[in-house]
Amino acid sequence: PRDLYLARENSAGLDLNDAPTVESLRHAVQDDRGTPHVACPLIDGQLRPGEPRAHRAPGNREDVVGGTVFADEEDIARALDAAARGFPSWSATPAARRALALERAAGLLQERMPGFIALIVREGGRTLPAALAEVREAIDFCRYYAQQARQHFGSPLPLPGPTGENNSLQLEGRGVFVCISPWNFPLAIFTGQVAAALAAGNTVIAKPAEQTPLTAMAAVRLLHEAGIPAGALHLLPGAGEVGAALVADPRCAGVAFTGSTTVARDIARRLAAGNGPLVPLIAETGGQNALIADSTALPEQIVRDALASAFDSAGQRCSALRLLCLQADIADRVITMLAGAMAELVIGSPEDPATDVGPVIDEEARAALERHVRGLQAHARPVHVCALDPARTSAGTYFPPQAWEIDSVVRLQGEVFGPVLHVLRWQPDELDALCDAIAATGYGLTLGIHSRIGHTVAHIRNRLKVGNTYVNRNIIGAVVGSQPFGGERLSGTGPKAGGPHYLLRFATERTLSIDT
Ligand code: GLU
Repeated sequence: PRDLYLARENSAGLDLNDAPTVESLRHAVQDDRGTPHVACPLIDGQLRPGEPRAHRAPGNREDVVGGTVFADEEDIARALDAAARGFPSWSATPAARRALALERAAGLLQERMPGFIALIVREGGRTLPAALAEVREAIDFCRYYAQQARQHFGSPLPLPGPTGENNSLQLEGRGVFVCISPWNFPLAIFTGQVAAALAAGNTVIAKPAEQTPLTAMAAVRLLHEAGIPAGALHLLPGAGEVGAALVADPRCAGVAFTGSTTVARDIARRLAAGNGPLVPLIAETGGQNALIADSTALPEQIVRDALASAFDSAGQRCSALRLLCLQADIADRVITMLAGAMAELVIGSPEDPATDVGPVIDEEARAALERHVRGLQAHARPVHVCALDPARTSAGTYFPPQAWEIDSVVRLQGEVFGPVLHVLRWQPDELDALCDAIAATGYGLTLGIHSRIGHTVAHIRNRLKVGNTYVNRNIIGAVVGSQPFGGERLSGTGPKAGGPHYLLRFATERTLSIDT
C-alpha cells in the first residue's frame, strides 16, 4: 500500500541543553584529534596514496585535521572508466536494494553521529548545533531518497489508454553522475547529492570542496560499508580543475553542483562545449536573500529571526539573510534592538558550546568580506559591528558579524558569503518598488516576510518569486521532505533537494509499448 512507502523514520537529535551530552561531544572532538584523517582518490574501492597536503581547522589554524591527496589526470581518467564500468550492474540493481543500502547508511550515520559532528566542527568550523543539524540532514536525505526510489523506480508505471497496447513508463539511471559539493555543508550537501544520484540508479564520481574533503571521505567509506558497491561510488578530492575535467568528459551523464553562480555557468559552458551527450545540470547556487518586515510584525521576532538567518553558520549558507527591509515606522526600534542583540553574540571556537558564531572557512573568504566592508564604509552607516575577543578568535579565520544600513538595494552587488547584514528602510508606498529591486538582483533563493496581514504576505510573495519563502520565521535550515530546498534564476536550475521531484532530475524516462 502507498502509505507504507511513505512512512519514513525521522533522524534523532541530541539535547544540547543537557550538560553530559555536550560533554560527550567535547570528548568526541578530543578523540577526533587522535584520528589520522586522510582523503585521497578512492576508485573502485582502492585508495591511491600520495603525499598529503595538511588540512587545518578554520577555528584553529594550529589544529591539523588531516591530509589530502589531490586527484591527478590519471585518477580522473581511471575514475571515469570505473564509474562507467560500474553503471550496468548498479542501474540493474533493484531500486529496493539500492534504497536499503541508503537506509543502512542512515542508520550508521545515526550511530556514529558524535564522530561526524566532531569532524564537521573541526574541518568545517561549524558550531556544535550546526554540525548536529547537518548530520541529521544527511540522515534524512538518505532515508528520503531511499523512499522515493522505492516509490518511483521500482516497477514500471502502467499507462493505460486508447492505443490498445500495453504501455508503461520506467525511470532509470542516466549513467555516470558527477557530484560537486560545497564546503559549507561538508556532510549534508555532499551526502544529499550522492544519495540522490545513487538512489536513481546512477554511478557517482564525487568531487567534494577543496576545503572539506575529509568529511566527504568519511561519508564515502560509510556508504561503501552500508552496501553501496565500490564500483558505484568513487571519490576524487581536489581543486576546481578536477570538477572541470570531469564535466568535460563525454562519459559524464549528469552533474549535480552546489556552489557559486559563476562556477555553475562555467560547468554549463563545459557541458555545452564538447560533442558528448546532452546532459542535465542540477545547480544550486547563491542568493541575495531578503526579509521584508512591515509595521504589523513583532520587533522581537524580527530581531530573533534576522539574527539566526544572517549570522548562524557565520552567514555561510546560500539561504542566509543578506538584506533586512524594515518599514520606516518600526525601523528605529528594530535597529536599536538588533544592535543590542548583536552585542550579545559570542564569537569564538566552534568547539565551545557557548559560541554563537564560529569562523569563516579560510583566509580568502575573510579577505573577500573585508573588501566588501571597506566598500560599504563609503556609503553605509554601521548599525553594529561585533567586537572580536582576541582570546577566543586569534587562532582562526574569524570575522566580526556586522550590520550596515544602506539606502538602496542597488548597493548590493554580488553575493557576500559571510556574516554581513544590510538593513534598508522602506515607506509604505515603496513596497512594490522594493520587491522589484530585490527581484532585479537576479537571484531567487530564499525570502522572509514578517507581517500579520495575510494580504500583504500574499502580495509580496506574488511580486517577488523565489524558491523558498518563509513567513514570520527565520529563512534558514530547510527540512528534508517538508521544505524542499532550491532556487531559480541566478540561484539555480530549480530542482528542490529533499523534495518529491528531485530524483526525476537524476533519471531518464523510458517507455515500452507492446502490441497485445
Ligand atoms: N539548505 C540550507 C538551508 O536551508 C542551505 C544550503 C546551502 O547553503 O547551500 O539553510
